[in-house]
Amino acid sequence: MKISTKIRIFFLLIFIGCDPVFRDIQFPDPKTSPYVLPFPVGETHDIFQSYNNKQGHKNRLAYDFSMPLGSPITASRGGIVIAIENNYKDSDRKPGHNNRVVIQHSDSTLAWYAHLQKGSVTVTRHDTVKIGQLLGLCGLSGRSGGVPHLHFEVFRSLLYHYGDALPVSFRNLSGLADSIGMLLRGRKYTSLPFDDELIIESELK
Ligand SMILES: [Zn+2]
Repeated sequence: MKISTKIRIFFLLIFIGCDPVFRDIQFPDPKTSPYVLPFPVGETHDIFQSYNNKQGHKNRLAYDFSMPLGSPITASRGGIVIAIENNYKDSDRKPGHNNRVVIQHSDSTLAWYAHLQKGSVTVTRHDTVKIGQLLGLCGLSGRSGGVPHLHFEVFRSLLYHYGDALPVSFRNLSGLADSIGMLLRGRKYTSLPFDDELIIESELK
């Protein structure tokens, strides 16, 4: 290992160790993860903000995937749609005014897909969605900083509290993560073909 790489890992460990949210963080093994990247197979996008980036993700376990306006957003995991917002103007920057889809999974966890384009959401409340299904298009509604991207976050419960978010790994990801499995800001990640969700879900039982 190069010395510069060792130094970077050393400072990363100090950074993680100093933050209460990140002290005990453990990313699941990607190979058995029920999640895939939230965009179509074959596409490549980079991380605009990773976990705990200071601008908009301080103390948050969330990823921002940078994408061109109108890029398709797909379900990272199957489940039931429990909430959508589809009518905020793309120019509306008010906090909370982001068009979004919220999906509840079989283990009661919830995935939050935010900043979608006005009128682009293709699912409705109570719909059952399959992994990889189109949910809507990338936009910049809400506190997006005026930059089109997808905010993706998974929560343990309906509280949607920052401290209730869960670290997520993606089983169809091609690209370099750090030593604890976290995706890195500025890095590109490609969505690879993946197996059916049911196979993975049954393996987890
Ligand atoms: Zn975000």
